[in-house]
Amino acid sequence: MQAFVKPNHERIWLVVAGLLPLLLCLFFTFIEARQTVARQQEMTAAALLSQAEHISDLAWDVTDSLKTLGNRPCKDVLSQLQKLGALTPYFRSVGLTLDNTVYCSSAFGSSRGRVAGMIRHPLPSSGQSWWTLSLAGTFGVQDRPAVIFMRQASDRTGSYAVVDGQYLIDLMRVTGLNLGYHITMQFGGGYPIANAASLSHQQENWKTRTFTSGSSDYPIAISISAPRTETLQSWRQILLTFMPMAVILSVLFVAVTNSWLRRRSSYRDELRRGMAFGEFSVHYQPICHLESGRLAGVEALMRWQRSDGSWVRPDIFIAAAEAEGMIVPLTRHLLQLIARDCASWKVPAGFHIGINVAADHLQHDDFVKDIRGFSQSIAHLQPIITLELTERSLISEGDRVAHKLAELRSEGTLVAIDDFGTGHCSLTYLQTFPLDYLKIDKSFVGAIESAYGETPILDTIIQLAHKLALQVVAEGIETPLQMKYLKSHGVTFIQGYYYARPLSSAALMAWIEQNPQPGTSLF
Ligand code: C2E
Ligand code: CA
Ligand code: CA
Repeated sequence: MQAFVKPNHERIWLVVAGLLPLLLCLFFTFIEARQTVARQQEMTAAALLSQAEHISDLAWDVTDSLKTLGNRPCKDVLSQLQKLGALTPYFRSVGLTLDNTVYCSSAFGSSRGRVAGMIRHPLPSSGQSWWTLSLAGTFGVQDRPAVIFMRQASDRTGSYAVVDGQYLIDLMRVTGLNLGYHITMQFGGGYPIANAASLSHQQENWKTRTFTSGSSDYPIAISISAPRTETLQSWRQILLTFMPMAVILSVLFVAVTNSWLRRRSSYRDELRRGMAFGEFSVHYQPICHLESGRLAGVEALMRWQRSDGSWVRPDIFIAAAEAEGMIVPLTRHLLQLIARDCASWKVPAGFHIGINVAADHLQHDDFVKDIRGFSQSIAHLQPIITLELTERSLISEGDRVAHKLAELRSEGTLVAIDDFGTGHCSLTYLQTFPLDYLKIDKSFVGAIESAYGETPILDTIIQLAHKLALQVVAEGIETPLQMKYLKSHGVTFIQGYYYARPLSSAALMAWIEQNPQPGTSLF
């Protein structure tokens, strides 16, 4: 017995079915993780900016209120400055300036000093009525960042407020450090105040995404870099939720694919077994020459009776054989069965034997060889073999097919187009291909309602066949009325239950004996 080993392509199907949900899950959860990190960064930036704007609002309000103290001696206003500096949250110092020189401050009283010296940074370009700058440190507190808010009046006086950067640093730490963010905030393009020491080169490479944003009201810019580990962590969390579902789907896909493959391969196996165990046979449906009323030949129709006695409909097993790539072996089997039956037949020379040929077989390299072999195997009957092709089989590889048909026709084989009018064949095929008969589908014959009525499509097909010098075979004749109609419209051959049903080989021989043919010969 053949070992149960799955063919390679089936294993590939199973692997694909199993991996697909898992890979899709990995891909989409990764995208989601990246988006989650991006959303998180965006939210953090929005919260920090709003706080920075709030501090800026306070600072500008204070510098505005200080404007009224300008031009007054320091000793008169110092206590007010000290009170403001001490009582307003976030502030390191506030002060008054004249010509960019601090002459009164809440931190150093009336000691004078240049503003640039106090902020340890060159001043922004002159002429601006207000400016703000983040600083690495100030003269008084050199190692802690700060932000200065400076308001200049037209009379060369000015007021300023210095906010301690520690508030911002703490805020950035609270909101971002547990997520591993590296956050920097800049006021007026100054020193970047960061929540942690600057990123090392290695960390720079590891960060996945830097999000930058700015305030619409003030010159504040914020940048948030998230390390790759943050995305990985978020990915892991989302995966924990979705992976079980993907695993279930994967198992389901594998099960469905497996059963589909089993059904597929089992149909193929069943066809093979059916051939090996002789479950197939051929029935022959007589075809009548209308004019003379004589038997002209038969159409071979395959039959499949399973070992349990049930019959499988030909349209079903033929379609399955075509889908499973089994139609060529099945047709070869059919040809062998016909040859075996023909060995005991007694029919006159020129007896027509119609064979249904599937598109795949017609396009097969060995098609001509197969038909020649069959023709030789029944040569003792001197029959005329008619190949019944559907319109579909002429569509692809037209030139090669036409060449094969021409070759076989030159050796005496005839060609019929089966089920004419039901396919999607262009009429030009009728001129391009070497043909002998058109077989009109039984659906058109079924449309005949009275012997002298009009059946436009049927009539047109018959006229078309006559114009192309093709003989017409009408299928599915069930009533005398249909026969009468077709006879009066110049149809050459008929086939149908009215004349005879498909018969087994032995029944056909008995039928021929019991139905003496009018005239002496069949033709
Ligand atoms: P088809 O080639 O059009 O064959 C004619 C079908 O019409 C046959 O059905 C036949 O039994 C049926 N038929 C004949 N006279 C009448 C009638 O008066 N009334 C009605 N209602 N039906 C009638 P069957 O044998 O069931 O075959 C069905 C189809 O299966 C065939 O249609 C053909 O396409 C395919 N087939 C059958 N045997 C073979 C074969 O050996 N090879 C290939 N490739 N196809 C085959
Ligand atoms: Ca046919
Ligand atoms: Ca047909």
